[in-house]
Amino acid sequence: MSSRTPKLFVISGPSGAGKGTLVAQVRERLPHLGLAVSATTRAPRAGEIDGVTYHFLTDDEFTRRVDNGDFLEWAQVHDHRYGTLVSEVERNLDAGRSLILEIDVQGALAVKRRFPSAVLIFIEPPSLEILRERLVGRGSETEESLALRMADAEEELKVAGVYGARLVNDDLARATDELVETLTSYERC
Ligand code: 5GP
Repeated sequence: MSSRTPKLFVISGPSGAGKGTLVAQVRERLPHLGLAVSATTRAPRAGEIDGVTYHFLTDDEFTRRVDNGDFLEWAQVHDHRYGTLVSEVERNLDAGRSLILEIDVQGALAVKRRFPSAVLIFIEPPSLEILRERLVGRGSETEESLALRMADAEEELKVAGVYGARLVNDDLARATDELVETLTSYERC
């Protein structure tokens, strides 16, 4: 599929809303879309691969890269730092490829300031109760990190109104169809 100008898509939503799974499904359907691999100071979870899931950095390395101006944006999310590397965005845009950034709301607003044409898409869970069940089911959260992620989710949902598009991840297949449709219609613009 060709696009006239490569588009920068920013996808946000509470942790546990299923953004990662949705984005993976969408990229299978739209393989021409690139993905910016973010950097983070959090530890890898089981199955996560350095350089693929995230660039996993130590605190010192993250600070060095901030000082070096390597980040388009970075933010403290939950209790770790996460950031979008300029190199990841340029690598895709320079190749004429639209790409997806999967980042939190603070990062999304920062990207929108730098790239006003960026398309912001918010993924919502069907309800906060279902979000909690999903996070518990993931088995990766402590009581404390679960509480933090739930509190952050409530804050993120308050900001969802500024996003250009919103979709509810109630059913993976349906939400994938809707996201594919949303991305392709913006790519045609
Ligand atoms: P997780 O630890 O569950 O992988 O991600 C936690 C949160 O960090 C998610 O809301 C995710 O969107 C956000 N995040 C991931 N990468 C970035 C980034 O590069 N910048 C910002 N601002 N947030 C990010």
